[in-house]
Order: sequence, then structure tokens, then C-alpha cells
Amino acid sequence: MSKVRLDTLYDASEIRDIWENNQTVPCIKDPKEGLITPNMYRANKGSKPCPYCGQKMVHGRQYYTKSKTEAISRGYQYKTVDGKPYINQAGSLYFHQHYVTIDHKLNKARFPEKMFDYDNLEAICWRCNNQKSDNLMFELEHKLEHLRSLKESVFRRYPNPH
Ligand SMILES: [Zn+2]
Repeated sequence: MSKVRLDTLYDASEIRDIWENNQTVPCIKDPKEGLITPNMYRANKGSKPCPYCGQKMVHGRQYYTKSKTEAISRGYQYKTVDGKPYINQAGSLYFHQHYVTIDHKLNKARFPEKMFDYDNLEAICWRCNNQKSDNLMFELEHKLEHLRSLKESVFRRYPNPH
């Protein structure tokens, strides 16, 4: 796969296919581990906290099932932002709410050349990933929250003399 080819592709479904067909191909340059596959990237981030909701992310066979009933009894079901019950699903498998996913900071359809760039990737939980794509304001809201807490900590450190 050459960079030139990626640069000329802007069709969202083609981009998705390339992403999906490369899940087991070592194409992400991890600064510590060298070339790793997207699957390895996810596995490495399993059990780390999700940067958005703070919940521990999970990865591996024990966190998905073929049975919807089993998924519900394991507590995989949650409510979407509009209050609908939802279970993360890929093909015939049902996944844990906080199963690790890879999010592209710069959208892969708009910046295909950055699709496998380590610096453009972030591990976030599946539930937050869904919420993020549902809600364009998601990122902004989180940035605002971050700025607020930053402001508070700065004020604590440098109290207003007046
Ligand atoms: Zn999350």
C-alpha cells in the first residue's frame, strides 16, 4: 500500500475497507515497540483507563460473546445519549461497553494519509467512541471541561492577590 494511493482515496467506504483489511498488518509505528498491528495497538491499551469516561478499558475474548442474552446478563447493554438501550456489536458478536477501540483524532476519511499514524491514534472505549460519532460537540465539551479544570488548578496555584 503506497502513500500516493492513500492520498488519492477519499471515498469513505474504501477508507473503511482499507482500515478493516489492515487490522492484522503491522502498519503502526509505535515509538517503543516498532511496527505493530491495529489489533496489537488495542491489546496494548486494554486495561488502561478511557481518556473520556475514565473507566477501565477491556480487551480479549472474555469481553465479547455471540449470545445477546449472555451480553445482557453480563451488563454489556447501556443507554445511548438519546436513552435507547444499546449493545456494541460487530458482525455476530456483542462487546463489553468499555471494549477498547481506536479513534482517529483526524478523521480517516478526510485524512487517509494519517490513518496509521501513531500520533493520530487514540485508544478510547467503544461506548465513548459511539457517543463521539453521535455528537459533534463531544470533543469540544471535553476540551471545555479540561480547560475549566486547568483554569481552576492555575487559580489554586496562583491565587488572585486582590
Ligand atoms: Zn469511555
